[in-house]
Amino acid sequence: MRIVVLGAGYAGLTLARRLEDALGPDHELIVVNDSPSHLVQHEIHRAIRRPAIAEGIVVPLTEVLDRATVRVAQVEGVDPDAKTVSLAAPPSAERAARAYDGKRANMGDDDGDGDSERAESEGTAIEIEGESERADSADDAGNGREECGGAEEGDETESVLAYDVCAVCLGAETDFQDVPGVAEHATPLKRLRDAERIREDFLSVLPEGGRVVICGAGLSGIQVAGELAALAREEGASEDCKILLTEALEEVAPAFSTEFSRAVCEELEDRSVEIRTNAPVERATEDGIVVDDEELATDQLLWTGGIRGPRALENERPVVRSTLELGEGTFLVGDAARVVDTNGAAVPASAQSAVREAGAVAKSIATIADHGDQGGFRPRLEPFTFDSPGWLVSVGDGAVAQVGPTVLRGKAAKALKTSVGAGYLTSVGAIGNAVDLAREELALSPD
Ligand SMILES: Cc1cc2nc3c(=O)[nH]c(=O)nc-3n(C[C@H](O)[C@H](O)[C@H](O)COP(=O)(O)OP(=O)(O)OC[C@H]3O[C@@H](n4cnc5c(N)ncnc54)[C@H](O)[C@@H]3O)c2cc1C
Repeated sequence: MRIVVLGAGYAGLTLARRLEDALGPDHELIVVNDSPSHLVQHEIHRAIRRPAIAEGIVVPLTEVLDRATVRVAQVEGVDPDAKTVSLAAPPSAERAARAYDGKRANMGDDDGDGDSERAESEGTAIEIEGESERADSADDAGNGREECGGAEEGDETESVLAYDVCAVCLGAETDFQDVPGVAEHATPLKRLRDAERIREDFLSVLPEGGRVVICGAGLSGIQVAGELAALAREEGASEDCKILLTEALEEVAPAFSTEFSRAVCEELEDRSVEIRTNAPVERATEDGIVVDDEELATDQLLWTGGIRGPRALENERPVVRSTLELGEGTFLVGDAARVVDTNGAAVPASAQSAVREAGAVAKSIATIADHGDQGGFRPRLEPFTFDSPGWLVSVGDGAVAQVGPTVLRGKAAKALKTSVGAGYLTSVGAIGNAVDLAREELALSPD
């Protein structure tokens, strides 16, 4: 049976690793991702203040997958009826991003001749759609663990990949909500190159002073505002620079409890971040935004105001019920889906949801693989119930944690934040990255 996992973010990587353990040797496991590395997205805001943290949050897939074939390609579309996926070479913008994201998994130049390159490591094969140059997936240390060869005779270069079972784990894209001018003038935060640009723009605003506006006070917006405030302080410019966080709904962190939201507000205000709620942005121009009929001059504009589905799903986030099946044999996991769990509750789009959903889907796929084709008999699939241990955000050097009904701040929350980030990396086998990340986090908050 051919099992295909599309995307190697939180959902895709967790799922692929579980399947590597659960599937028998007769089953083929292919992971398709537009980059040869996994990005720990929930720490990406840290790279605005500490670019070196990128070392800890970019994980070459060949280091954390064992027997799966990794195919570096752009998923263009999924047809659950035909059970096929259309693939293309990753676009050049993605390639440029990978040079940064995946710097420990360097690849050859794109000559666009449509060949695919195959490289073997101990158990993981990596294939690069549209590459004919040698693919070198060895890590920085040059320890030679991953020997990469040239293209093999008879190598498949299909742009249509057929599957028996597929899990679509392609994450989400930034949704600019069709607010006029926002897509043109605001920077989103999804990739390391976004963090790099936000840092550069902010450092160029600081010497003159000015106003930086972050639109959208969910997990990303809160954490970005905290990082910028801390960076301004470190640069000795917190007096001159105004950081404004706007939110269209009534509260900061509107998806979370009022206590959590209140604690986050206090942490932000302690760091001189101005907050405006009930303040949907009406339009943006090169020089400013209009909020509540008021024009605000803006020196830097950031957008963390929502997500939409990936392009391969026509920017939709289809609803899936508790088994997360989109169609028979096709699952939708993580931010790409609007998941409704067994209790009928909408599951928030988040890293922790994606990882938990992947656990349930891994059991279902392993069951399908075990039963094979039994003439119309369908094995029982694993139902998913979202049970969150709590929520955590960093606010510059501080943090706020909600654990059950208790909201924590100060050292306890900071310790939790560090251990959750490092714990996640350990759980996907990236022990070295976990150590790097913990070291960087501790450097960020030395007290
Ligand atoms: C700044 C920031 C802070 C955050 N903080 C938190 C937090 O504190 N806690 C929390 O729980 N969540 C947080 N999140 C949200 C969390 O990062 C997402 O919910 C999570 O990444 C979703 O996981 P996923 O596997 O669905 O998607 P992703 O992690 O986005 O993975 C999708 C994968 O698919 C690949 N891909 C996408 N399109 C294609 C394509 N067409 N072809 C091939 N490959 C493709 C991508 O490269 C990626 O590897 C934060 C997000 C941001 C941006």
